[in-house]
Amino acid sequence: MHIIDRTYIDGKFIEPHGDEWAPLFNPATEEQIGSVRLADAQDADRAVAAAKRAFSTFSNTAKEERIDMLNRLHAAVLARTDDLACAMREEYGAPSNFIGFSAPRAGMVFLEMARTLKDYEFRRRMGSADVEMRPSGVAVAITPWNSNYSFICGKLSAAIAAGATMMIKPSEMSALQTQVITECLHAAGLPSGIFNIVTGYGNVVGAALTTHRDVSKITFTGSTATGRRIVQTAAATMKRVTMELGGKCPTVILDDADLEVVIPQVLAAGFRNSGQACIAGTRILAPESRLNEIEERLSHTVKEFRAGYPADDQVQVGPMVSQKQWDRVQSYIRLGQEEGARLLAGGEGRPEGLHRGWFVKPTIFTGVRNDMRIAREEIFGPVLSLIPYRDEEDAIAIANDSDYGLQAHVFSSDVERAKRVANQIEAGRVFINDAPHDPLAPFGGFKQSGIGREFGVFGLEAFLEPRAVLSLRYKYCAARGLRGIIFSTPRRPCGRGSRE
Ligand code: NAD
Repeated sequence: MHIIDRTYIDGKFIEPHGDEWAPLFNPATEEQIGSVRLADAQDADRAVAAAKRAFSTFSNTAKEERIDMLNRLHAAVLARTDDLACAMREEYGAPSNFIGFSAPRAGMVFLEMARTLKDYEFRRRMGSADVEMRPSGVAVAITPWNSNYSFICGKLSAAIAAGATMMIKPSEMSALQTQVITECLHAAGLPSGIFNIVTGYGNVVGAALTTHRDVSKITFTGSTATGRRIVQTAAATMKRVTMELGGKCPTVILDDADLEVVIPQVLAAGFRNSGQACIAGTRILAPESRLNEIEERLSHTVKEFRAGYPADDQVQVGPMVSQKQWDRVQSYIRLGQEEGARLLAGGEGRPEGLHRGWFVKPTIFTGVRNDMRIAREEIFGPVLSLIPYRDEEDAIAIANDSDYGLQAHVFSSDVERAKRVANQIEAGRVFINDAPHDPLAPFGGFKQSGIGREFGVFGLEAFLEPRAVLSLRYKYCAARGLRGIIFSTPRRPCGRGSRE
């Protein structure tokens, strides 16, 4: 049994003031594997006070110092890759293919942000003004359960690069992963208070942090419903917000695509992280002219996407994180049938041979119209909708007919044609032919998928505020015998401050 009874404030693992406990489960066995003692509003206050104290010094550190910190964080997280992978498997049931990507990448974001920081100019001359990009203040990061430590690392890397201090409130359902990542970050030996990690309930610690008057920035990853509530709360004190929210991402198969190659990639995009991913390609848009062929190939290839125990390397789809999530996914599988869609694969209940664990059959619906709820709402499980389209224009219209706009895929044998389609899709990221992730490219959503972007320069600037200084020199106009003021532009370029 894992007993997690400490929270992390001001550089120390301390006993929280909160005395409520939450159980932790292994979703593959449904067994309780531990408990976490939760922080409360008083702990949230202590964390903000620590971050505020640290801010005055940290916000004025030199760029080189912060690059050094990012490098140390990278090394410290990299050293515990195996422990992160184990915690993620045990507590969340992520399959090996996802862990293999996620665990080594967690530390990389610090290195990538160090590179971005190295090239970033904090001082610029704009018109007659000296503009300096200043850290936006004390920030709060709130993260979900579905990729816990990656989100913590991504958000913290940008805050450190900017010179902002941070409170992190991870989901109470991923306390095991939070414990390992906190130990990693602590091992990097940063000055106390720069980051504080308080696990607690959203409506307790999350609410205390997002309403706190000393907090000036919120970066949130989670559902659109919670994000909306936080934005409303944040408006009262005009906190800056970055919102990474839900998705219902389209995967457009153009009629010239090589289906032999493309169909496994389409399914991998749809079932990513067992379907518990905001970026999962859950709406498959297929040309009517090749619909039968695509249906046949999908129902054949889906057999390669085995659901089962995450420790098995052959498994592509792990369990849902909780009973609640399992029930929710089952209800959508029922709903799809009630709405008139036809099951091409999967369906209700557990996969064959699995009698325990929150496992779902990898499911594909065909005959789906884009106005059905299964095509519009985020299910957050391995449930895909196959939607036919007439021509390219119709495909783009269906792809964009969504409240969400996080990510999209386009598959074609003709890259220029795919780019033409990609350029008309309302999504923060569009991948053509399964192109690899690029950490310098901005990540975030159009429409109700969010506000703002993470990673690279956009991610860094999300924690910065421009301050413009406009100066005027007084001169005595002796020649004309008049006292007056003449606007004069400083001739020298602006000085180099300690933050450059
Ligand atoms: P959630 O919105 O229920 O919870 C996310 C976090 O918000 C948790 O830490 C929770 O405790 C906290 N929270 C809840 N109520 C709060 C409140 N009133 N004030 C402050 N904090 C509060 O989301 P979830 O179920 O943990 O995660 C799944 C959702 O996250 C899905 O909708 C998914 O699409 C989304 N997501 C988005 C991205 C992205 O990058 N766009 C990535 C992963 C997940």
